[in-house]
Amino acid sequence: MANPLFDSLFGKYAGRETPFLHLDGGGTVTHAAFLARAARFAHVFRELGAQAGDRLAAQIEKSPEALAIYAACIQSGIVFLPLNTAYTADEVAYFVENSGARILVCDGSRQAALAPVAAAAGAVLETLNADGSGSLRDRAESAPDSFETVARDADDLAAFLYTSGTTGRSKGAMLTQTNLLSNAEVLADQWRFTDTDVLLHALPIFHTHGLFVATNITLVAGGSMIFLPKFDQDRIIAALPMATTMMGVPTFYTRLLDDPRFTRDLVRHMRLFVSGSAPLLAETHVQFEERTGHRILERYGMTETNMNTSNPYDGERRAGTVGFPLPGVELKITNPETGARLPDGEIGQIEVRGPNVFKGYWQMPEKTREELREDGFFITGDLGLIDDRGYVQIVGRNKDLIISGGYNIYPKEIELVLDDQPGVLESAVVGVPHPDFGETVVGVLVAEPGADPDLDAIAAAVGKSLARFKHPRRLLLLSELPRNTMGKVQKNLLRDRFKDIFSGS
Ligand code: ATP
Ligand code: MG
Repeated sequence: MANPLFDSLFGKYAGRETPFLHLDGGGTVTHAAFLARAARFAHVFRELGAQAGDRLAAQIEKSPEALAIYAACIQSGIVFLPLNTAYTADEVAYFVENSGARILVCDGSRQAALAPVAAAAGAVLETLNADGSGSLRDRAESAPDSFETVARDADDLAAFLYTSGTTGRSKGAMLTQTNLLSNAEVLADQWRFTDTDVLLHALPIFHTHGLFVATNITLVAGGSMIFLPKFDQDRIIAALPMATTMMGVPTFYTRLLDDPRFTRDLVRHMRLFVSGSAPLLAETHVQFEERTGHRILERYGMTETNMNTSNPYDGERRAGTVGFPLPGVELKITNPETGARLPDGEIGQIEVRGPNVFKGYWQMPEKTREELREDGFFITGDLGLIDDRGYVQIVGRNKDLIISGGYNIYPKEIELVLDDQPGVLESAVVGVPHPDFGETVVGVLVAEPGADPDLDAIAAAVGKSLARFKHPRRLLLLSELPRNTMGKVQKNLLRDRFKDIFSGS
């Protein structure tokens, strides 16, 4: 029975005692043991009444068992819906209710809080703890360790992922087997993954990045993963000598650069470092290369489309860019008002089309129609341009664009100048309401440790390098920028916090 995603990612490993997951503290889970665990879970899900096409929501800590739930869902045709472990019970209630999940799996510590949530939504509640114990595991113990794979079409849903909610309420993106498979195959090829690769995996597995990009590529290529529960500097430093590749968000790399143990010798043998999910500062790029001799490969993607672009494996990895559209992915820059294609070099909205583009937002037909055009192009919500050599640059999000006195202002341009000022670690520029200009520019700064940046001097320096309408009307110092779990700056929180500073002025 055909199930293209299961066959390609997992099926080929049946009976193979090859290493798949290297665990923290020693121990390895082989492909065969992993598949046996998945098969047992698949039997349990069926016993609990879940059929192909039903949703299973999981708010669980990262563990081999947690990943086996993903495999079990694919094998039985159940749509896997991983949830951020930081979500509160109210938030989980929304996702379970909204998705109509039939089963909810949670950590034992959340059972009491989520029992009423599951009951209200008519979902069965099971527990799975980080150490692999829990009611789900207990049920699985007596289940057979093989399961007849349920046939699925390439166009059937495989997973259901809510967006990070950086710009508003999270939206449920419906991802098909093809969406996931096409991307995994292309990336494994682009990044030259083979069965000798050992990927250092310290990302969460409730996002595209850790679940689909890292895990699926490894499975397609036949490699293995050092599976760390979370980003922990000591563990990363200890694990790097065994790894060949690492995938991370920019904050992983800046934190490693702060660690004196992170040396050229430690990573001399490494083949590849990949960054994504948020912009990698050019400064990090340079420092990383100086320290290690490796150039980080930056790529760009999102929940709705998996990966869209990547810097080249061979050839120049251009700092400040996210590289070229992946094979099979079309990318164009358009005028946000008219939808017309813009020439290279001009900033506009980024649209993408290809087998990676999702099927739509769950139960949001209007939103889907607005963002997913009839011709198949998805309006990403990001602004960018194609540079003189065909590399794609992300300029920011459409929602973060500031329109002040009729001028379009791109926060990133101002942030780059602010980041360069003495004593400034990082910055975020947002637009806030202003009685005369509609919106105006506010710059939020974070000081380098121990530094006390001179805000007047910074304002003067910005005045010299940027046109007047781009000058921040106010510079503010915060101890840190609000970020979500993927390290993305939550500008909506900043806008909200400072929305009244010019009212009445
Ligand atoms: P929401 O859509 O709910 O507001 P979100 O867009 O942050 O949340 P994700 O799908 O997790 O949710 O993130 C995708 C976004 O992350 C992209 O649209 C883009 O803005 C940003 N992103 C990803 N990779 C990069 C990168 N290399 N450089 C800059 N931005 C990136
Ligand atoms: Mg988004």
